[in-house]
Amino acid sequence: MIFTETRGNDGSHEASVSFSEALLSPMASFGGIYSPQEMHPVAADFLRRHIDSSYQEMSLALLEHLEIDIETPLLRQALDLYRRFDDPDDPVPLVKFEDRLFVSELYHGPTRAFKDMALQPFGLILSTLARQQDRQFLILTATSGDTGPAALETFRGRANIRVACLYPDGGTSDVQRLQMVTEAADNLKVIGIHGNFDDAQSALKTLLASETFNQRLREMNISLSAANSVNFGRIIFQMLYQFHSYLALVRWGEIELGDEVVLHIPSGNFGNALGAYYARGLGLPIAKIVIASNANNVLTEWIDSGRYDLSKRDLIATTSPAMDILKSSNVERVLFDLFGATRTRELMQQLDDNGWYQLSPQEHDPIRAIFAADFCTDEESLHYIREGFAQGYLMDPHTATCFKTCRLPEFAGQVNIVYSTAEWTKFAPVIDEAINGNRSQNDRAALDAVAASAQIDVPAIIDDLFDKPVAHPGVVEKNAIEAEILDFLTGSD
Ligand SMILES: *Cc1c(COP(=O)(O)O)cnc(C)c1O
Repeated sequence: MIFTETRGNDGSHEASVSFSEALLSPMASFGGIYSPQEMHPVAADFLRRHIDSSYQEMSLALLEHLEIDIETPLLRQALDLYRRFDDPDDPVPLVKFEDRLFVSELYHGPTRAFKDMALQPFGLILSTLARQQDRQFLILTATSGDTGPAALETFRGRANIRVACLYPDGGTSDVQRLQMVTEAADNLKVIGIHGNFDDAQSALKTLLASETFNQRLREMNISLSAANSVNFGRIIFQMLYQFHSYLALVRWGEIELGDEVVLHIPSGNFGNALGAYYARGLGLPIAKIVIASNANNVLTEWIDSGRYDLSKRDLIATTSPAMDILKSSNVERVLFDLFGATRTRELMQQLDDNGWYQLSPQEHDPIRAIFAADFCTDEESLHYIREGFAQGYLMDPHTATCFKTCRLPEFAGQVNIVYSTAEWTKFAPVIDEAINGNRSQNDRAALDAVAASAQIDVPAIIDDLFDKPVAHPGVVEKNAIEAEILDFLTGSD
């Protein structure tokens, strides 16, 4: 598979690269990103041949079909990391919620959110490539709560990679913060900053633009890569589980091979949804990909009207913080795939200059044919969590947004799959409020209250966090970040 630049070439980057090159250096000309030039559907009998395959076998077959420049033994080793998930033989269990409504649980990895699906294999591959090429990389991330823990967990102790992770102190759940600050390893640095996620992100941008910082990295021979979903190395592991859940439905006799299903995806940066888009391109029978949002409903407007408009919006803090995003980076890859680089560059330029763009009716048509969308307020999401619990199912607030979309009349009678992106334990205070009416409890109290109501134990992986020693106590002002990270890189802290 060849990757090209979503906004065309300005002479400063390679116009087309291999998968491994896109993974090591994801940023392309004019602020664009690398994206597949084209994607060929799998053979007509692919699904039939893999009805009884393990997650790993089926995934390996898909990755080999894509012809990426990673050797098969390394791919196997990367996919084998899913054996560390709760059920080694079924890392992504599908659960029947009710007739024609299923939940694919993407959160059974070490940090209890769907980020592990991609970051677990991605971490091994990036580190192995870096070692083979004898290069040192720094991954800088600003996290609103799920990417940070998953990135730290996957890179812990890995050769040739260092990770510096910025999080907003007070802006994540207690569990998410503990997952980060208790990750002890020489190649990891976690820094709390005073402020919110936007402040963490803008601090990161300032750092990336700092001439002295980049000069120091060059002197130390350290390259920057990225672990967010602009990196296609993450997307590629997010276009496999849709096949897995589809095949489970065939095995169970819920659908026949070839029947179409509706996928519901709690969306933020559009990486999960993009994986579904490519799975459809590979030939998986998908009737619609439904984009669920919270009150930050810019994607709902985009899909309903073809207008992507940031100009009259401020970010709203919701109970589903991983979806508190206005500029969804991966939408750009859909634009590129449908309309090509020239038009993508034009649209992204308009978004930067004016804060909005409007697709033509002819451009809007294919978007509407593939996607549908709706958004769910915090109030509504409490309702869906409560309703789900009454039916014996615990869900997190991100997943709850999909219970709004899958109840829409247009999807009644179809087979619906909700992609669940986090375990309830990461957002226990919201669940506690939904099912017990408790408000503003801390995570510890809320975990215990929910576990008592559900008559289950708090999973050990979460429970143990509260007793682990804190390895990264630092919370700093924005202007101290550069020095902190340089100290970390030179080993003087
Ligand atoms: C990251 C995340 C999302 C959003 O996924 P995108 O790929 O950014 O759209 C949704 N829910 C949870 C719990 C997440 O961690």
